[in-house]
Amino acid sequence: MLFMLALTVFTPSLAASNNRQTEETPLRIVTKDIPPFVFTEEDHLIGFSIDLWEEVAQQADLSYELVIVDTVNEQLEAVASGEADAGIAAISMTAEREEVIDFSHPYFDSGLLIMTTPSTSGVLRNMLGVLFSRSFLSALGALFVLVLIVGHIIWLFERKNNPNFPKRYFPGVWEGIWWSAVTVTTVGYGDKIPRARLGRLLGLFWMFAGLFVIANFTATVTSQLTISQLQSAINGPEDLPGKRIATVEGSTAAQYLQENRIPFMGVTLIEDAYEMLRQDDVDAVVYDAPVLLYYIVSADLGTFTIAGEMFNQETYGIALPENSPYENEINRALLALKEDGTYDAIYDKWFTIEGLE
Ligand code: GLU
Repeated sequence: MLFMLALTVFTPSLAASNNRQTEETPLRIVTKDIPPFVFTEEDHLIGFSIDLWEEVAQQADLSYELVIVDTVNEQLEAVASGEADAGIAAISMTAEREEVIDFSHPYFDSGLLIMTTPSTSGVLRNMLGVLFSRSFLSALGALFVLVLIVGHIIWLFERKNNPNFPKRYFPGVWEGIWWSAVTVTTVGYGDKIPRARLGRLLGLFWMFAGLFVIANFTATVTSQLTISQLQSAINGPEDLPGKRIATVEGSTAAQYLQENRIPFMGVTLIEDAYEMLRQDDVDAVVYDAPVLLYYIVSADLGTFTIAGEMFNQETYGIALPENSPYENEINRALLALKEDGTYDAIYDKWFTIEGLE
């Protein structure tokens, strides 16, 4: 698996003396697909980290071949075992990893981000939730009981000399309830009019009470809807518990979720997590901020959105086996590239969005 695709690249200054490698033993640099840092296109690799590594290798007079693996864990294992001489992609520098490998100086500031969908299904789910919620049903129940009581009273007042309200209990009370509901909702068809003095008094009272009863009812429903929308919205990592989340197994995002005891579905490739979000199998994807941002901007503008700001600050470094003989040269090269503007040029090439500047 490790040597799925090996691309040998010799830097032009290969002839320069370097007693730790010969032309026959180029350095093995293990990398993985993670746009925009590394894109594994059919027979060649591009991306921010690839460009940067090419420049580092040139500065440090290193010849190398790039080896592609699927996951960051495979990268780390290859470096730790010495199978690879270095690893580069979007490898976060963590204390745990530093125990088994070394890192170059950090070369990129990153962190985690949450990606969600601005889904309408969420809104619908909320509304249904509210319709079947206890507070909505009890508000509805209370309204119904009130309508029932007033329906009976109006029938008692009117049944003697108002043909609109028949004397017999069921047909009479039915008309009473009808009048009561029409009046309290301020609909007022006027198809049944109380004639008795007490009946008219009750009518007056019930009309004005209706204003409050209905306002109260509306307030209960809308506040419930707002509360449930606020509860279901994801605006940052604090909203993650209880949500369905996907991320890449073994990544720093997975580590963050584990440390915070937030359950998640682990996938091997981030594309699978994107697909789960698209299918509404999860509510959010947590992963490296620049990777998610690049994905949204380049591939799926409109389908996905970012929830909240970057958190869990991280930096990327080049992974090296412990006591690597190349560490100093690589660090020196990284510093030189930052000083002479090469780093900035590569950064602009991959992170400047046309039209936004
Ligand atoms: N920055 C992430 C990490 O180092 C990248 C994860 C990945 O390559 O999938 O864990």
